[in-house]
Amino acid sequence: MENHIDNLISIVGAANALDREEDIHPFLEDWRGQLKGSTPLILFPKNTNDVQKIVHYCHENDIKIVSQGGNTSLCGANVPNSSDHKLEIVINTSKMNQVIEVDPFNQSIIVESGCILQNIQNTAEDHDLLFPLSLSAEGTCQIGGNISTNAGGVNVLKYGMARDQVMGIEAVLPDGSIFSDLKSLRKNNTGYDLKQLFIGAEGTLGVITKVSLRLSSSPHREITSMVSVKKVGDAIALLKETKNRFGDNVTAFEFISQSCLVAINDFLNHIKLPLGYKDSWQIIFEVINHDEDALSEFLEEQVQKGLVTNGLIAKNEKERNDFWLVRHSISEAEKLSGRGIHHDISLPIKKIPDFLDMTIPAMETIAGKSIVYTFGHLGDGNLHFTKKQPEDMDGDDFMTFSEEINAVVHENAESLGGSFSAEHGIGSKLKDDLVRFSDPIKVDLMKKIKKTLDPKNIMNPDKLIDI
Ligand SMILES: Cc1cc2nc3c(=O)[nH]c(=O)nc-3n(C[C@H](O)[C@H](O)[C@H](O)COP(=O)(O)OP(=O)(O)OC[C@H]3O[C@@H](n4cnc5c(N)ncnc54)[C@H](O)[C@@H]3O)c2cc1C
Repeated sequence: MENHIDNLISIVGAANALDREEDIHPFLEDWRGQLKGSTPLILFPKNTNDVQKIVHYCHENDIKIVSQGGNTSLCGANVPNSSDHKLEIVINTSKMNQVIEVDPFNQSIIVESGCILQNIQNTAEDHDLLFPLSLSAEGTCQIGGNISTNAGGVNVLKYGMARDQVMGIEAVLPDGSIFSDLKSLRKNNTGYDLKQLFIGAEGTLGVITKVSLRLSSSPHREITSMVSVKKVGDAIALLKETKNRFGDNVTAFEFISQSCLVAINDFLNHIKLPLGYKDSWQIIFEVINHDEDALSEFLEEQVQKGLVTNGLIAKNEKERNDFWLVRHSISEAEKLSGRGIHHDISLPIKKIPDFLDMTIPAMETIAGKSIVYTFGHLGDGNLHFTKKQPEDMDGDDFMTFSEEINAVVHENAESLGGSFSAEHGIGSKLKDDLVRFSDPIKVDLMKKIKKTLDPKNIMNPDKLIDI
């Protein structure tokens, strides 16, 4: 084992490797710190060539590899914790963070996979263009991680998921060969679209090293509003009204339960809550290519109809950022508030009230009464839904109910035509549910693909699907 570690370090150089326990520590868990692992070695390759050499060496010597970007996974997909006790190392792409080319004529950009999402957004903006993928972890997560999880975020309503932004991919395959499909073409009908295999694969089929991404035109004007409503049904009715009035110019429609606002107030007290925390639900939505008067008129109508109880329109960039800071702080506040059983589900939008009515009492029957955090991307039917530890229950005791609570939440979502996993992925956390809720033919095909590309099962073993 010592030999392997020395040989692998020599590929990238000692300055680009960590092999001391105290240095490795921050790379061993998911963002919530709920799933933990271990590894004797983290490598930070500087380019595709380094990755190729590392993977080739690992393939020859049956060494397992976990790819890591920004380590913001919420399902343990980034954690090195395979069950077969063979040597397992981490390839972290943080040092592969170059923007290779921006093409304003084609509205596209080619970057290395370790580019931080926010840096890509900023580079696009420098060219008066937009990279619309946006999520609360955007200052930390990397594009390789975003593509490997097929990340969603706040703008899916108009621009789609990470998959919809990808034009090309370069990846190192499990045997060390390079799959290169980096062309920035909008039309390229040349057989199976193999790059799609790496999108949402959670690092199980190869290491993504470069990507070509579609950029969009910058909107002329962006107006952001924060409003409160009395019940979730009103939030859904408001979404319909907003889409009827502004059509495809609605780019985001996020909702936040009162419990989340209280958590921000309690645990992140420095964050301003523009509408306070007394309302049942608050919504942040964004409309482009319209002026403030149009939105103001629309909101007045909704107040008169009784759909909206209170509302604000951001008058400047600072106010806009204040609104979004509330939304982007929820996960942090939730994390600080104690133990929770978390879910990331998709539902047909009109079924969301039924889901909440069915599921909250069912969770109480299992593990007692406690706070439930509900927030997320209402515009595309994606709910982040967490049952918090009851005040009078020990945290470890509460977590013993995880399996039962997950079963109820996931079964209810699936029974209403939704999905047990919306945007965070499967990782090690939801592997059983993937098999349980998927068509067996799909599961069989997934296994065949994995076995074909990675017969030695060295790429992120024990994640996504077991073979
Ligand atoms: C506060 C917060 C908010 C979030 N909000 C959202 C949200 O709105 N929408 C959403 O979809 N997700 C959200 N997430 C989770 C989301 O999955 C990640 O933030 C992001 O997509 C993961 O990127 P990362 O670079 O951190 O990847 P990591 O966590 O490092 O890895 C995630 C997975 O990708 C694989 N991977 C990473 N890099 C590569 C590579 N180069 N090649 C192959 N595989 C690779 C890893 O092996 C792992 O399976 C949020 C997370 C946090 C902490």
